[in-house]
Amino acid sequence: MGPFKAEAIVLKSRDFQEADRVVTLLSDRHGKIEAVARGARRTRSRLRGATQPFCLVTASFFPGKTMDTMSQAEVTEGFRVLREDLELLANASYLCELVDESMGLHDATPGVYPLLLTAFGLLRDGHPPATVRHMFQLRLLGILGIGPGLGRCLGCGGEVTDPFFSPGEGGVLCHTCGPGHGAGRLSRQALECMRALLRLDPSRSGRLALDARTEREMSLALDGYILWHLDKKLKSLSFLRQLADEEERGDERGRGTEEG
Ligand SMILES: [Zn+2]
Repeated sequence: MGPFKAEAIVLKSRDFQEADRVVTLLSDRHGKIEAVARGARRTRSRLRGATQPFCLVTASFFPGKTMDTMSQAEVTEGFRVLREDLELLANASYLCELVDESMGLHDATPGVYPLLLTAFGLLRDGHPPATVRHMFQLRLLGILGIGPGLGRCLGCGGEVTDPFFSPGEGGVLCHTCGPGHGAGRLSRQALECMRALLRLDPSRSGRLALDARTEREMSLALDGYILWHLDKKLKSLSFLRQLADEEERGDERGRGTEEG
């Protein structure tokens, strides 16, 4: 393959040698790319801005034996707010890490790039970050062909009225099959929301206005499911959990003051 141009989102970047950076990107037509941006750490380098995580860039690449080279790049959309707000940063980092960990180099599975771009747009525009993340998780898993079964019971094929969820079994089980398969309980509300996130246009998922309890339940189910299927702990997940815990403690303190 010769030199090529691509539109891409920076998933992550790290320092390399004296003045370079190695960038991992998800591109529109060439899938996941790892490329070195030579001299990108120099103050006057034109590549400097284009190596920041979450940036949408238009860039030129030269294929190399071990690694490609990003020779030119222009930032089309910086998604700056995703780096400046802690909650957005945690969620955007998670989306990037999930894409990075679930796709190999040059994997150009259709649908993943537009999904990430849509999710970034929703985060930037103030949609509820947790809902965006769950929508992304469900849709990405679906695109990769490993999405959880959320319809009829995966054990007996029956209607699910009192749902259980099992990562190992691949999704939802009824109240008869669930306990025997070591599945955890899932509220009807959480199940309905997961179905809705797959059904609704992503730009409308924010209108679901999910309460904190349902979001937490979906987090547990989906994060557990992804851990089971990727067999890998995502680093950005502990950051997200830490933020969620702090928020919960903050809420409790807030209530305490009101009561006192
Ligand atoms: Zn069943």
